[in-house]
Amino acid sequence: MKKKYPHDVVSSSGNIGSAAENPMLSVEDLKVYFPVETGFLSRRREYVYAVDGVSFDLKKGETLGIVGESGCGKTTTGMAVLNLEQPTSGRVVFKGQDITDFRKLSTETQLQLRKEMQVIFQDPYSSLNPRTSLDKILEEPMKVHGLYPSPGERRDRVAYLLERVGLTPSQGKRYPHSFSGGQRQRIGIARSLALNPSMIVGDEPVSALDVSIQAQIINLLIDLQSEFDLSYVLIAHDLAVVEHISDRIAVMYLGRIVETAPYDRLFVNPLHPYTQALMSAIPVPDPKARKNRIVLTGDVPSPRHPPSGCAFHPRCPERLAECSESAPGLLHKGQAHHVACHLVR
Ligand code: SF4
Repeated sequence: MKKKYPHDVVSSSGNIGSAAENPMLSVEDLKVYFPVETGFLSRRREYVYAVDGVSFDLKKGETLGIVGESGCGKTTTGMAVLNLEQPTSGRVVFKGQDITDFRKLSTETQLQLRKEMQVIFQDPYSSLNPRTSLDKILEEPMKVHGLYPSPGERRDRVAYLLERVGLTPSQGKRYPHSFSGGQRQRIGIARSLALNPSMIVGDEPVSALDVSIQAQIINLLIDLQSEFDLSYVLIAHDLAVVEHISDRIAVMYLGRIVETAPYDRLFVNPLHPYTQALMSAIPVPDPKARKNRIVLTGDVPSPRHPPSGCAFHPRCPERLAECSESAPGLLHKGQAHHVACHLVR
């Protein structure tokens, strides 16, 4: 089931995103560079430009899908938003508060933010402690944050969360190894809900699962969103996955957003050659349907030495002479559709 997205514009902060005056989350020119020591005696310092100037807004109840190939910086963006990765520069504002650097915030504020902003990790196997029973996995964050202080309240809450994600309270005594991959991801989702968050960052929450299970988890996330009044940032490498849940999709390439639009507009009219290539790779469940697959040659360049001009130019089937010299900025093409490409000037 897809959701209707209200047409939006460039927001008051100048970010690409929703028309909400006060977005829940505002990310402005976010950069995350990782230093690398090279050369004789490691005297030379270079940088991996993992995220290089990403901006977006997210409003209450909205789902933003971030897609791109491995190494494009989508996960680092999500982790920097949660301050699990320290941004090099830029600004992250959550509910009106500048949270770019958690170290500058009081312990009380940090704890409050950790309650409000939760994460679902990609790997349902390594993200759960194998020595802790399911009950304890879900109770622990409540104890740390002093939520539901009495053991009885916590038990009730754990039972409620298990039922909401499709498990039974009687399974609470079991350990993670006795669950399947899909069930483990349900446990991860229940854990992210334990503290009543208002925003969840899902880092490839279904990519480790079978296709049939992926659909169940996506549907579960859609159901939970309205019930718990959640906003999602969902990271995926597969456009087909985020299509079914996102209000808006941002396509990233080598640390930058190259195109963003409401999901229905992006799927009908992708403008960036990279988005068109990703779109052409989506399988169609109709043997008679003919698809013109765009096959990109070469690998994603290293974010340590990004190409000059448009970073996509070495692989772009439609590159122009100027593409290797000047980097295109994001242009607004109407109805919240933004593209960074010289072709759509
Ligand atoms: Fe291709 Fe040039 Fe557009 Fe980059 S700016 S995507 S190289 S046409």
